[in-house]
Amino acid sequence: MKLATGVTVISNGQVVDGTGKPAMQDSVVVIKDGKISYVGPAAGKPAVPPDSVRIDAKGGTILPGLVEAHFHATYFNIAALEDLDIKYPVEYVSLLTSVNARLALECGYTAARSGGCLFNIDVWLKKAIEEDLVAGPRLSASGREICSAGGLMDWNPEFRKIGMEGLVFIINGVDDARKAVRALVKDGIEWVKTYPTGDAASPDANDHHTLCMTFEEMHAVVATAHNHKLKVTGHCRATEGIKNALRAGYDCIEHGTFMDNEALDLMLERDVPCVPALYFEKASVELGPEFGLPQCVIDGHQETLDGGIQSALKILRAGGRLGMGGDYGFGWNPHGDYAKELTFFVKEVGFTPLEVIMCATKTGAQIMGREDEFGTLEVGKLGDVLVVDGDVLKDISILEDRKRFVAVLQGGAIKAGQLAKPFPTVIKDERVR
Ligand SMILES: [Zn+2]
Repeated sequence: MKLATGVTVISNGQVVDGTGKPAMQDSVVVIKDGKISYVGPAAGKPAVPPDSVRIDAKGGTILPGLVEAHFHATYFNIAALEDLDIKYPVEYVSLLTSVNARLALECGYTAARSGGCLFNIDVWLKKAIEEDLVAGPRLSASGREICSAGGLMDWNPEFRKIGMEGLVFIINGVDDARKAVRALVKDGIEWVKTYPTGDAASPDANDHHTLCMTFEEMHAVVATAHNHKLKVTGHCRATEGIKNALRAGYDCIEHGTFMDNEALDLMLERDVPCVPALYFEKASVELGPEFGLPQCVIDGHQETLDGGIQSALKILRAGGRLGMGGDYGFGWNPHGDYAKELTFFVKEVGFTPLEVIMCATKTGAQIMGREDEFGTLEVGKLGDVLVVDGDVLKDISILEDRKRFVAVLQGGAIKAGQLAKPFPTVIKDERVR
């Protein structure tokens, strides 16, 4: 992704730098050639050239671009598990991902880490974004997911004679586990997404207390992935599934719904981050009836919501790390609603706005393994910045309203918000490879 050239000065706002430190009032961020060169009081601002781009934060907030830590680029208006896989052909889904990516950027998310996708689309979406052909967050790709036969993601009955190869590798045993990871290595992904446990969405055979992979399979995934420098994460709701993942050497836990003290100790021992993705549960409970979800599924989502809130609090208060992401792309939890996760954590879980913003910026960047490049407003980091007309510490829900964004910058370039010019500019031939 190209960096802007020249100098940009963002002033007239409070700076929330993403580290968890209190806001700095009347502060300035200066970006030079795409990277942050000054963050601090307006009074100490260095001299800048007269032709600098000037952004007025209107007395609002200047913060790091947000990081969606559990992004499903290929989900679109999902109403049932089957829709994750065969609702649309891959050609159409590929186009939809560029729409989702652009929307995420417009919503202030300058980076996102995939939580799994159909075929290998996110790897190529990432390339298109990096080459400035498609507007979107800086991506970490996951490609296809891994689940054991008969588990949560293996829902097609045998008589239909259709597999799951677009979305998931269905494995039986450690040899299959290694084979699946090796295929992902060749695909060029960064995060291997697995299914150690079931979910409320599948109440009969694979509910949220069911295990969907063996420890041996999970361990084989980790050993193979780590050998090739890939990271491993997994959909972990059941307590035993969380512990299996942590003992197998997982690098992140998705959901971490039912954490007991032993699971917490295992998590803290290696400082493994967790992405709870709770607003999805809330939306499933609230809008489930409207979308025809069976009552037993809604009850399961309520149980995972309650358990997830307790576990997230437990992790944060014990000094653990949480990323903010939310399984967006379902009919009742559509792309574009990403920041509802942040509001939910302040208003209904009990985090402070500063804590939530740190989770959604610094920790997100750490999960992506790119904390040296972005996630906080510090000298030397990329100019990935969100400028908001309003005090997000007083009312975090302002982040849900794109119309309040003065500018969304990536590498110092204004990509979205009130000050953005239409995207894309004309693509020149030499950039099409
Ligand atoms: Zn997910």
